[in-house]
Amino acid sequence: MNETSGVVGIRGSNFCRACSSVNLELVLDLGTSPIANNLPIYPSPANEPRYPLVLKVCKDCHLGQIPEYESASEIFTDYPYLSSTSKEWLQHSSEFVERVLDRYPNLAGSYVIELASNDGYLLKYFQEKGIRVLGVDPAENVAQIAEAKGIPTIPKFFGEELAGEILEEFGKPSLIVANNVAAHVPDLIDFFSGMAKLCGTDTIVSIENPSLGYLFDKFYYDTIYHEHFSYLSIDSMSRISQKFGLTLFDVEEHPTHGGSLRYWLSSKKDIVVNPSVTYIQRKEFERGVDNSSVTQTFSQNVYSRIYELTNWLNSQDDASVIGYGAAAKTVTTFFAANLDEAKFEMIVDANKLKQGRRLPGTGIPIFPVDELRRTKTSKVLIFPWNLEKEIVSAIKQVNNEIEIWTHNPLRQL
Ligand SMILES: [Zn+2]
Repeated sequence: MNETSGVVGIRGSNFCRACSSVNLELVLDLGTSPIANNLPIYPSPANEPRYPLVLKVCKDCHLGQIPEYESASEIFTDYPYLSSTSKEWLQHSSEFVERVLDRYPNLAGSYVIELASNDGYLLKYFQEKGIRVLGVDPAENVAQIAEAKGIPTIPKFFGEELAGEILEEFGKPSLIVANNVAAHVPDLIDFFSGMAKLCGTDTIVSIENPSLGYLFDKFYYDTIYHEHFSYLSIDSMSRISQKFGLTLFDVEEHPTHGGSLRYWLSSKKDIVVNPSVTYIQRKEFERGVDNSSVTQTFSQNVYSRIYELTNWLNSQDDASVIGYGAAAKTVTTFFAANLDEAKFEMIVDANKLKQGRRLPGTGIPIFPVDELRRTKTSKVLIFPWNLEKEIVSAIKQVNNEIEIWTHNPLRQL
């Protein structure tokens, strides 16, 4: 239970985690599922608790959100995801650095800080350009990996308190990067307040996140999971930034994670706002961010995609399918579609931290991708559709015979 501004209840369920409004609309009910990124060691009994996964949208600030049942410290202190395992993400990050340096050549004046810097995948590119960097990541295991690569990393949760400590020791940064993190922060208010505190007049903030508009447009229900508390829209970003004296002055669309937005913020009073902000916001509204009849169509489409997947799997023989990718979206899909674990021989995943574990809530073991070489199973089902291209080529390298299927909610199986 949380309490904010006098409103009592569960944040994200009874009141909005950005503006505290109680005016939340239920959009999608995916039933219950276990915490997606806590992968238990294999074999151990599958007795993880399950929590409701229900998406609501605030009718006042248009933030999409789910309730939180586990504390962030339980979820993120031993995080099994390394950003460097995705080649597509590394490419995207390297392009981001080139673009930022083109746009803001004076970054070297101070330092670049990344919040949720993971294993230092992005800061490494800035460092190679001779720019000072500082990472912040609460997952101690990944912070240590970053340190070993020479990326200084503070292993703590970011918020107003840590911002104060950083200011004292390092001063104001030239650039604050927060990619795919704001959505994972339970206390958005504290997070934005911390960023605003770090901002000097010339500091630029760059935030990237999957967009609520794309989620509605492409039926990407499997991007909803318990660690992903907020589903940001331009309107919600603009309002929460304003609250802390930051102006949203530019927005860009990117194809990552099925459709993300990159937001640019500044504390400069007279900053010119690019027309892209209003233009893309209008598109988001058309996609259902403030339109209940569009979101009803969205939820009907999601339920029918889920039904289709359940039927497909039920028509397969026992132990005849290998799942690819023990991602959070795999867990969401698995439980939303009530998939029969007896149909799976195993799940394979390239991330070493996930191997030797099992999919939460099931007894399905996770093996290295190389197991595809030895298997007699004829079908592989890819869950992380966002990495489909590189996964298909990785599968073909070890097994050219196996049938490849992808569960992408945007299209039929
Ligand atoms: Zn709100």
